[in-house]
Amino acid sequence: MSKYKLEYIWLDGKKPVPGLRGKGLIKSFEKPPTLADLPLWGFDGSSTMQAEGNKSDCVLKPVALYPDAAKKDGYLVLSEVMHPDGTAHSTNMRATAEDDPDIWFGFEQEYFLYKDGRPLGFPKDGHPSTPQGPYYCGVGYKYMGSIARTIVEEHLDLCLHAGINHEGINAEVAKGQWEFQIFGKGSHKAADDLWMARYLMARLCEKYEVDFELYCKPIKGDWNGSGMHSNFSTKHLRDVGGKEYLEALMKAFENNIAAHIEVYGPDNHLRLTGLHETQAIDKFSYALSDRGASVRLPVNFIKNGYKGYLEDRRPNSEADPYQIVSRILKTINTVPTK
Ligand code: ADP
Ligand code: MN
Ligand code: MN
Ligand code: MN
Repeated sequence: MSKYKLEYIWLDGKKPVPGLRGKGLIKSFEKPPTLADLPLWGFDGSSTMQAEGNKSDCVLKPVALYPDAAKKDGYLVLSEVMHPDGTAHSTNMRATAEDDPDIWFGFEQEYFLYKDGRPLGFPKDGHPSTPQGPYYCGVGYKYMGSIARTIVEEHLDLCLHAGINHEGINAEVAKGQWEFQIFGKGSHKAADDLWMARYLMARLCEKYEVDFELYCKPIKGDWNGSGMHSNFSTKHLRDVGGKEYLEALMKAFENNIAAHIEVYGPDNHLRLTGLHETQAIDKFSYALSDRGASVRLPVNFIKNGYKGYLEDRRPNSEADPYQIVSRILKTINTVPTK
């Protein structure tokens, strides 16, 4: 028998976007545990905005298991929050995303690394002397500083070890801003992985005395905000597509602007201004290769017979991917595929 360190991770009741929580369970197993071996567990919901003090027990139901390279015999246990009677808690947004094995999602998570209340590399007062330009995919101490890349690469290794499906990483347009991309098939895999990647980054940053900043417009002025472009494709979009179908789908998106924006992250009006590679928050547009559109069709989409994936550029860095998946699926499901 060995003892395993199981860190149960869940999302709390913070509004408008949930926060990450985790607590450790130490348990003996004959061999490394699988998801099916893991028990339900619980926590005090009155400390996480999920229950009243006199009825405080919430249940943690393990839904995905990730090896934790930072700990010997460690695992991260992503969990859904349930009521003691087994029904999903009202803050459990994962449970609202209808299970669809044929939808694929790719999230581009942009974020800042912060130190002492400002982006890494920003002077104590004011802005860096070099404006935006050389930082995107940049190299060299003068632009990138010294710890950011160390953190980014260490995070990538932790994620890959955990089985999180990263597809890429890059330095972003603003100084101290970075991005990673995560892809997954089905309604839950990409969103599960994204939350775990956020957890691993926030935890890793503790050691460097750095903050993982997800707020969408942390610096005013001519500095990019952070988005979380949400790329998606259905079986129909990948295999059949067609101009008529795309037009009907985009019409459905246009008819639901407010419902989408509601779950695309707080303070998004500060970011979706029509400038800095965005469309205005109250408008909807789609176009080939257009980074000023709400939805961008990737460069080969039309050439391939209106087939492939679409990029909704509106979700911001702080948005909850479960709510994005849930909303996009809802809108897609209103459009007949004939
Ligand atoms: P860009 O910055 O040009 O928008 P990225 O390479 O950062 O491009 O992101 C592209 C995203 O598209 C990735 O997250 C990738 O996983 C996702 N993606 C690629 N193909 C598909 C597909 N068929 N369905 C859903 N997402 C996809
Ligand atoms: Mn990108
Ligand atoms: Mn980007
Ligand atoms: Mn993008």
